[in-house]
Amino acid sequence: MMEKRTIETRFTSEDAKVENSLRPRSLREYIGQERIKENLQISIQAAKQRGESLDHILFYGPPGLGKTTISGIIANEMGVKMRVTSGPAIEKPGEMASVLNGLGEGDILFVDEIHRLNKQVEEVLYPAMEDFAIDILIGKGSDARSVRLNLPRFTLVGATTRAGLLSAPLRDRFGEIHRLEFYTPEELCTIIENSAVKLNVSIEREGAYELARRSRGTPRLANRILKRVRDFAQVRYNGVITGEVANVALDLMEVDKMGLDRADRRYLMTLIEVFEGGPAGIDTLAASIGEDAGTIEDLIEPYLLQNGFINRTPRGRMATARAYEHMGFAVPEDPA
Ligand code: ADP
Repeated sequence: MMEKRTIETRFTSEDAKVENSLRPRSLREYIGQERIKENLQISIQAAKQRGESLDHILFYGPPGLGKTTISGIIANEMGVKMRVTSGPAIEKPGEMASVLNGLGEGDILFVDEIHRLNKQVEEVLYPAMEDFAIDILIGKGSDARSVRLNLPRFTLVGATTRAGLLSAPLRDRFGEIHRLEFYTPEELCTIIENSAVKLNVSIEREGAYELARRSRGTPRLANRILKRVRDFAQVRYNGVITGEVANVALDLMEVDKMGLDRADRRYLMTLIEVFEGGPAGIDTLAASIGEDAGTIEDLIEPYLLQNGFINRTPRGRMATARAYEHMGFAVPEDPA
């Protein structure tokens, strides 16, 4: 298991309270992801005009980019209830059947980490998504017979870190599939300033921008860093987050100018020093870092790829010239 990162993007219990208070409730407050918002606005309006439920929607992208938040907003905009569960939480087909059976007309069932549903549970979803029905087995042995139970017309909203992890039959049953993008520093700056107002923290523009640049494109991280830097500003300074306060605090948290933390840097160091820049296969790389390959693919690589620190080739991962420079190494003759 990965050591707890200074800037962890996975959801932790300490987030629960603050995240709920910071979570935007409407599309207007939801910053960025413009293309997704535009698409959703159209689907929502069309469904409302026809008096129908929304088509099933799949969101994918790294943790902390706003998949749960946007799902809650869809429920608000549709004026329906949202029931939240997750792939690992539902172990038996009967549990899924009972969750589905408890939904009201038009309600949203949000399934986080939907790629982690087991096969039997997933199979309950197929007729549920397609025909709004489930087949249940009544009786035992030779008396057993299957009875079809009708469900309300619900909307399944699934979230996953990578769409490729989903089985094809499940993926095919979603009417809309959206990939969430990392946020720009400008978007994160707005999110940080909005959160600062809600948390009653004074922050200057330069301070907000510094935090934004070093939040790895991720709102969850931006909010978490804001909270940590608020404490720092209060204890060491006069409470105001200026550019300088943000800088000193983030250096102390070992978050560098690009927002890379210790785990990111260890990944790059290993790739450069142990594997001479690569290509290194994900499993070998993971083993030498002492980390699970899936965790690396979900939590570390997306941001490094997006920012040109690594390349993914058929033969494995390679460090780019940018990675060598950033880590303070001379760039070899033929980097990736
Ligand atoms: P995910 O489900 O993708 O892991 P969440 O929806 O839980 O991510 O988002 C984490 C936190 O980041 C939320 O509590 C919210 O405060 C903030 N957040 C996410 N997306 C946005 C956004 N587009 N605008 C403002 N805040 C956001």
